[in-house]
Amino acid sequence: MKSAEIRQAFLDYFASQGHTVVPSSSLVPENDPTLLFTNAGMNQFKDVFLGREKRDYTRATSSQRCVRAGGKHNDLENVGYTARHHTFFEMLGNFSFGDYFKREAIRFAWEFLTGTLGLPEERLWVTVHVSDDEAADIWLKEMGVSAERFSRLDEDNFWQMGDTGPCGPCSEIFYDHGEDVPGGPPGSENDDLDRYIEIWNLVFMQYDRQPDGELQPLPKPSVDTGMGLERIAAVMQGVHSNYEIDLFQALLKAAAEATGCQNLEEKSLRVIADHIRSASFLICDGVIPSNEGRGYVLRRIIRRALRHGHKLGQDKPFFSTLVAALVAQMGQAYPELVREQARIEKTLLGEEEQFARTLNAGMKVLENAIAGLQGSELPGDVVFALYDTHGFPPDLTADVARERGLTVDMAGFEKEMEAQRALARGTGAFANDYSDRLTIESVTAFSGYEKLADQDEIVSLYKD
Ligand code: ATP
Ligand code: MG
Ligand code: MG
Ligand code: MG
Repeated sequence: MKSAEIRQAFLDYFASQGHTVVPSSSLVPENDPTLLFTNAGMNQFKDVFLGREKRDYTRATSSQRCVRAGGKHNDLENVGYTARHHTFFEMLGNFSFGDYFKREAIRFAWEFLTGTLGLPEERLWVTVHVSDDEAADIWLKEMGVSAERFSRLDEDNFWQMGDTGPCGPCSEIFYDHGEDVPGGPPGSENDDLDRYIEIWNLVFMQYDRQPDGELQPLPKPSVDTGMGLERIAAVMQGVHSNYEIDLFQALLKAAAEATGCQNLEEKSLRVIADHIRSASFLICDGVIPSNEGRGYVLRRIIRRALRHGHKLGQDKPFFSTLVAALVAQMGQAYPELVREQARIEKTLLGEEEQFARTLNAGMKVLENAIAGLQGSELPGDVVFALYDTHGFPPDLTADVARERGLTVDMAGFEKEMEAQRALARGTGAFANDYSDRLTIESVTAFSGYEKLADQDEIVSLYKD
C-alpha cells in the first residue's frame, strides 16, 4: 500500500465508524502561545477537549501535519540517527469528545490494524499505563491480546501535549520488525532501538494540567489517538526504516541527484530529505526564516540541511530544487503546497544564498578548532564565535561535533551570550549591525519553551 492509500484507508475506516473527517490545521497553532508548532493531531481540538468550544460532531478523524523540532516534543536531534523520527510527519488520528472512551478506542485501533490492514497479531505489542487496570482488562480479556506481548509502563504511558493542557494515561501499540533488527520490547533496556517501533498511541484524555502541575479533570473523558503515517507505511511496505517508504525514496533520489551523493542510506541525505519537508511546509504555512521565534527554528532547520549538503560536497544552492520532488509526492494531499511552490522555492533559495556566504568560512574555523582540540569538548567560545560571526546556530555546531564523537560546552556558550547581551544593553540597541546573521535575541526568543527545552536537551545529549 502506498502512503496515500494508507492515509485514505484510515480516514475511510473512521468515517465508516461515524467520525467526521476534519482537514489538517496549519503548522502554526492558532491562538496558542504555549505551542511552538503543531505537534499532534489533537492540537486543533484542544479547546474542544477542555470544554471551551463546541463542534457539531463528537467524533472526528484527521491526517494532521506535525513538526517536532522544538519545545516539549523535539525530535530534531533524532533525525538521521533513528529509523522512525522526522522533524515533519503526518499523524493519523481519531478523536472522541466526550463520546466513546477506552473500550471503543481500543476496539477501533485493533480492528483497523488486524482487520483493515491485515497485520498479524504476533507482530504487535501493547502497553498501558501502570495504573490502568481497565485498559489492561480490555486488551487482555476482551481483545484477547497475549500477555506475552503486553507491558505496563509509567512515564511512557502518560501523554501530554505540553507543560500545560490536556493529558492522560495512554496505551501504545508497537510493531516488531523482527529478530534481525537490534532492540528489545517496550520497557526493556534496549527499547529505544528500532526493533519494536511505536506505531500508534491511544490517549485517554482525562485531565487539564495547570501551570502549577495540578491535574484538573476534564469536563468529559475523551479520546485522542495518533499514528505516524510514515511508520505504518514502513510496516505495510515491508521495510524497516521510514526512509525506505515510497515517499522518502523519491525524496532521497532527488536529494542524491541534487548533491551528487549516490548512497541513499547516507545519513546526510536522510537529514536533507527530512528537512525539505519541514522547511517547505513551515514556509507554506506562513513561517518566514528570521532571527527569532518560529522563524529562527525554521532557519536552524534550513541551515542544518545546507551544512549536510556542504558535507556531501555541494556548495551551490541545491535545497530549493528539492521542492519540486516534494510537490510531486505530497501536492495531491496538500494542494496548498502546489499553490505556494514558487514562494517556498524563492524563500529557500534566498536562505541558501545568504548562508553560502559564511558556511565555508565557518566550517574552516570549526575544522581548525577540532584539529587543535585537546580533549573531547568543543569550547563555548568557539561555539559562540561560529554563531556570532558565521551564523552557525549552536545546534548545528553540536551536530558536527556529534559526528566526530565530540561534545560542546553549552554552558560556556551561554556565558559568552550573556556577556554579549550585557554589552548590547550597555551600548544601546543599535550597537551592532546583524543584518546578515543571527542577532543576540535569537537564542533568547521563545525562552519559555524553545530555548530552555532545546538547549537543555542539547546539553544533556552532548554531555554524556
Ligand atoms: P517515540 O517514542 O517513537 O518518540 P512518541 O511517543 O514521542 O514516539 P507520540 O507523542 O505518542 O510519539 O505520537 C503519536 C505517534 O506519532 C507515534 O506513535 C508515532 O507513530 C508518531 N510519531 C511521533 N513522533 C514522530 C516523529 N518524530 N516522526 C514520525 N512519527 C512520529
Ligand atoms: Mg518521541
Ligand atoms: Mg513513545
Ligand atoms: Mg507515544
